Amino acid sequence: MVTSASAWVVVCAAGAGKRLAGTRPKAFAALAGQPLLAESLKRLDDCELVDGLVVAAPPGWEEATILLAEELDCDKVSSVVRGGRDRGESVSLALAEVPAEVELVLVHDAARPLISEQVVRRLLSALEQGWDAVVPALPVSDTIKRVEVERVVETLERGSLVAVQTPQGFRAEVLRAAYGAEHDEATDCSTLVERRGGRVCWVEGERRLHKVTTTADLALVESWLAEEEG
Ligand code: C5P
Repeated sequence: MVTSASAWVVVCAAGAGKRLAGTRPKAFAALAGQPLLAESLKRLDDCELVDGLVVAAPPGWEEATILLAEELDCDKVSSVVRGGRDRGESVSLALAEVPAEVELVLVHDAARPLISEQVVRRLLSALEQGWDAVVPALPVSDTIKRVEVERVVETLERGSLVAVQTPQGFRAEVLRAAYGAEHDEATDCSTLVERRGGRVCWVEGERRLHKVTTTADLALVESWLAEEEG
């Protein structure tokens, strides 16, 4: 089942990317000769399930982001906002530019460039089924332990753990309410919805939705991109 409701995407691209050696913000680090952000923009703009995009750009890179969207012919990019001090603030500022009548909002990190239409479809289907929010996730293959400094405190039950990716999907009114209330430095939006008692589900993510943090991640994603294009 795929929704006919209007779906927009907030693209968080305002991070500095300090762990990627370079002078540019992460969204403008080179991936196969193009800014990292270009890949998410092209894929989301091409996706028939997506109606509009709002990008939170690195402060000072708003103009460069608009130019990039124009160069790529990404007609669905409706606005580019100056990103906030943390991811939560970037989401909040971008969300304010999503038209009030939009029913479904996905929040995506530009740091995960290999977004696919299949994932978008799974997320929107879950929202159509009535969930307040939905996250793509992968089962965890390592054993995960909770630690305090050097001491291992607890070994978690692996069968009930998943590793969460983006984009995350939301009923727009649920996301707006979560960000209308005080938002702290939660690293993902679905956490805010969970805390307010919202119904959040997970759908299968994709290994290739890997988050770029280091130059080794860039090389890995670049190799997958070459495979897809080859
Ligand atoms: O820092 P981290 O890699 O966890 O950031 C996740 C995503 O949030 C990245 O795509 C980054 O550009 C974005 N972000 C943002 N505004 C900030 C900090 C991070 O849009 N102030």
